[in-house]
Amino acid sequence: MTDKKPLFRKGDQGPAVVEICDRLLRIGAIKKASNVIDETVEAAIKEFQQSRGITVDGIVGPETFRRLEEARWSLGDRILSHTPGHLIHGDDVSVLQRKLSDFGFDAGRIDGIFGKDTENALKELQKSTGIPVDGVCGPTVFKAIERLNRVVVGGTPEQYREELHHLPRKTGVSDKVIVIDPGHGGEDQGLLGHALTESFVAADISQKVEGKLAALGTTVLLTRLAKTTQIIDEQQRAVFANNSFADLVVSIHADAIKSATGNGCASYYFGNEALGQKSSMGQRFANLVQSEIVHTVGLKDCRTHAKTWDLLRMTRMPAVRIEVGYLSNQHDAVQLANANVRDLIATSIAEAIISFFEPEKN
Ligand SMILES: [Zn+2]
Repeated sequence: MTDKKPLFRKGDQGPAVVEICDRLLRIGAIKKASNVIDETVEAAIKEFQQSRGITVDGIVGPETFRRLEEARWSLGDRILSHTPGHLIHGDDVSVLQRKLSDFGFDAGRIDGIFGKDTENALKELQKSTGIPVDGVCGPTVFKAIERLNRVVVGGTPEQYREELHHLPRKTGVSDKVIVIDPGHGGEDQGLLGHALTESFVAADISQKVEGKLAALGTTVLLTRLAKTTQIIDEQQRAVFANNSFADLVVSIHADAIKSATGNGCASYYFGNEALGQKSSMGQRFANLVQSEIVHTVGLKDCRTHAKTWDLLRMTRMPAVRIEVGYLSNQHDAVQLANANVRDLIATSIAEAIISFFEPEKN
């Protein structure tokens, strides 16, 4: 319909009116089809004009008709791209722009018109998710947005971007690089209790995890050898993980305190509530591994917590530190002294890593 076309108002009927009513019906503005602009249809037109911020007169002229045309598109209905000279208009473009903006990409004004700013923001999204950077909003982008809608509700741009970054990595564990970090080592034996050293427990569980994942084809890198003499600090371990382009870092420690009754397993991810910082993927993996260990091994659940320790803060990938139990506690120490239990802990950690990278079914 061009600007030359007539206006349609109350009492009019004919093929064009049928089309107008069909559009109103499709966006839910009227309840049933009509071939005449009666009172109900006129009211629906007015309501639609009001909701779009255009002149409310109940008459369908070129602008109202164009807006009805735009309103019929939902994100995913058609491929969107920047087409100079003939820009795509539509509600699907508005939704895309809103999403890009929520994810922290600057799409400019949310006006429902696919312009250069929208294209640039879309390319940023594609770059960060590792999908081809062509500025075209097609099935891969629809899928990424759909998934984010499912997993992140009212998230921050950082959370959205971490999710977007993780999405293309959910292709199974076999092509991943996992850094396993046995705490302490060398002169530094870590904490002590019931004749067990933290460095031994950490190294043994780490080696067991390495064996289980290596069998699946995963590249597993340990930050230290079991019998190292060197002391490697947390910053060096973080640099090692970054230089290895690891997909995930799992650091293994054990705890000990003065009180003999303190017991259980806890997992830590990067975050500081006071500063509003949080690695949502770190938290997700921490929750996975924590529940896996607690349910499989039967250690007390001391839950997951946000911390800003160097290893968690300086790594550029999700990183989690697990305190597998208290050496100072009789029950936990007996468990950790048992090679079968350490193997069970290693299995739980490997299982959590597998499910973290498991492809999504849909
Ligand atoms: Zn430690």
